[in-house]
Amino acid sequence: MQILHPFAGSVQQYAEQLTDPDCRRPGHCPQCQAKRPLTAHGFYTRTLIDAAFDGIIRVRRYLYQACHRTVSLLPDFALPYLRSSLAVIALFLITRLLAAQTLQSAASTAPPMPYQRGQFWIRRFRAQSATLCAALAALTNPAPAPDFVQRALAMLESTGWIAAHRFLFGAVRCHLLGWPRGLAPDGRRAAFSSAAAPA
Ligand SMILES: [Zn+2]
Repeated sequence: MQILHPFAGSVQQYAEQLTDPDCRRPGHCPQCQAKRPLTAHGFYTRTLIDAAFDGIIRVRRYLYQACHRTVSLLPDFALPYLRSSLAVIALFLITRLLAAQTLQSAASTAPPMPYQRGQFWIRRFRAQSATLCAALAALTNPAPAPDFVQRALAMLESTGWIAAHRFLFGAVRCHLLGWPRGLAPDGRRAAFSSAAAPA
């Protein structure tokens, strides 16, 4: 499973910090809660597009000896299953949906990309907005707004997008733009969950 690696800094600083496996080593297994030693277990790689970065980042993995499961530490500037960084997606959504700029103008806030990618983010954000409003009510008062999309944006702005993402992903296993089909409701494969469930 993935958990978040809280990180305030540039992508380059994140890459430098990764060389030390003790940095951010989780203190217990998030899946079986065993407080047993865990070992660094390599990395996986993924693409990331940020304002000043477009390339491959490494994500550190740990293995829990007690239950033989792995956990990976996704930096919190990245969203699972999306190439663009949280900051890039947030700026696009604010420009298009809150400031009501055109799709072209909103897309120009992001590193060059096909406009269809922005449409895809908007479609997913709309579908997820009521869920976000309900979840974020734990952090901030729901703002008066004409619809769930506007309310979710106002709540994300008042909470801060990174803080909101940490809470959504870390505490309630909610994806800012919704999990891809097949990974709902909590981002884990259905087969994986049922295999892990007690008989
Ligand atoms: Zn475990």
